[in-house]
Amino acid sequence: AHLARIEAVDEKVHAFLHVDREGALEQARAVDAKRAAGEPLGPLAGVPLALKDIFTTEGVPTTVGSKILEGWIPPYDATVTKRLKAADVVILGKTNMDEFAMGSSTENSAYGPTGNPWDLTRIPGGSGGGSAAALASYQAPLAIGTDTGGSIRQPAAVTATVGVKPTYGGVSRYGMVAFSSSLDQGGPCARTVLDAALLHEVIAGHDPLDSTSIDAPVPPVVEAARNGNVAGLRVGVVKEFGGEGYQAGVVQRFTESVELLRDLGAEIVEISCPSFTYALAAYYLIAPSECSSNLARFDAMRYGLRVGDDGTKSAEDVTALTRDAGFGPEVKRRIMLGTYALSSGYYDAYYGSAQKVRTLITRDFEKAFESVDVIVSPTTPTTAFPIGERADDPMAMYLADLCTIPANLAGNAAMSLPCGLAPEDGLPVGLQIIAPALKDDRLYRVGAAVE
Ligand code: GLN
Repeated sequence: AHLARIEAVDEKVHAFLHVDREGALEQARAVDAKRAAGEPLGPLAGVPLALKDIFTTEGVPTTVGSKILEGWIPPYDATVTKRLKAADVVILGKTNMDEFAMGSSTENSAYGPTGNPWDLTRIPGGSGGGSAAALASYQAPLAIGTDTGGSIRQPAAVTATVGVKPTYGGVSRYGMVAFSSSLDQGGPCARTVLDAALLHEVIAGHDPLDSTSIDAPVPPVVEAARNGNVAGLRVGVVKEFGGEGYQAGVVQRFTESVELLRDLGAEIVEISCPSFTYALAAYYLIAPSECSSNLARFDAMRYGLRVGDDGTKSAEDVTALTRDAGFGPEVKRRIMLGTYALSSGYYDAYYGSAQKVRTLITRDFEKAFESVDVIVSPTTPTTAFPIGERADDPMAMYLADLCTIPANLAGNAAMSLPCGLAPEDGLPVGLQIIAPALKDDRLYRVGAAVE
């Protein structure tokens, strides 16, 4: 049924870069066979899923939304892919994304934009716009995203779906193509809080193949999602997440959500996190710096595209020609920014300062979590903007992640879930919930209460 739905609507939505029809049917038949034989089934047996094209899939193309990996067939599965298969999930295909997960609109994909199912002329968020659009257009009930600065939560917000960035280290990064390794985190996307929890439990947990993977039990997210309740909970509202640049309808729905939390028995506490003002600036030094190092591996020798290899050019020239043709403008911008920020003489002034700001933001969170159990905010300052509107204005694009980036810098757990439509444009608004690291279950407890 989901393959038929994809066939019927994805020409318009363009959520998928690759539909693995045969592979999906094979997985589904394997589940049927197990069931018929009375063999034990995985916890999500037969449930279809859309996988962001940043996770390697053995024998199935993985492009990361980039021309530089066009035609590359990975020889191995990412840990997330492996765990999905072990849970008997049916992987329908790979979803569209901003190239190397750099963007907030999916317009930076080398394979064309994805439409927001609420209004196909608008962006579905990014970088994981394909996964969110697949959910919102009922092409898949579950999806996987990655969140470096908001790429799970902001698409969830603008498509009225649920997206969770687990605590950093909660989900293995092995086989997840690296953008900014100290920030990147894979996580679940779904249409309900409980669905997200069921998926979270399947993909999370320690992985010896990822040196930053947390070696601790997975927080009890499913139990929390089944027991939504905020009575007696202290909920922080951060002063710095508001003010200029926030759309009126977004503020209105957020304010109503806070009222709802109060009505349900939560104690609302106003807090201030002064360093959050510098989060965006710090992020746009740290993320490009790490990306400039990570993307050095795309040298035309190891994977994917190779341009100008006609026997007359040096390896260095082939690398340069390939990168010129294979990387899009945003990726080049980030590599240049990062290379500059890390260069000798500037390292302390830029990268060093950004790391200090990162520490201050982490301390702001630590201090806040002394007096509150969770923090809430709008996920993103505006509803979905029209495709093309911010495409030539990187600064305007970067603002979409104003509220999501602090949790990445500190490594906290965070969720976005729908909280109604903005009255002025009828488009979805997202409520963000942030919990301390390792307390991912609180997101689900609160999310299930207000969903
Ligand atoms: N929009 C942010 C960026 O462009 C975040 C992307 C992400 O989370 N992958 O870097």
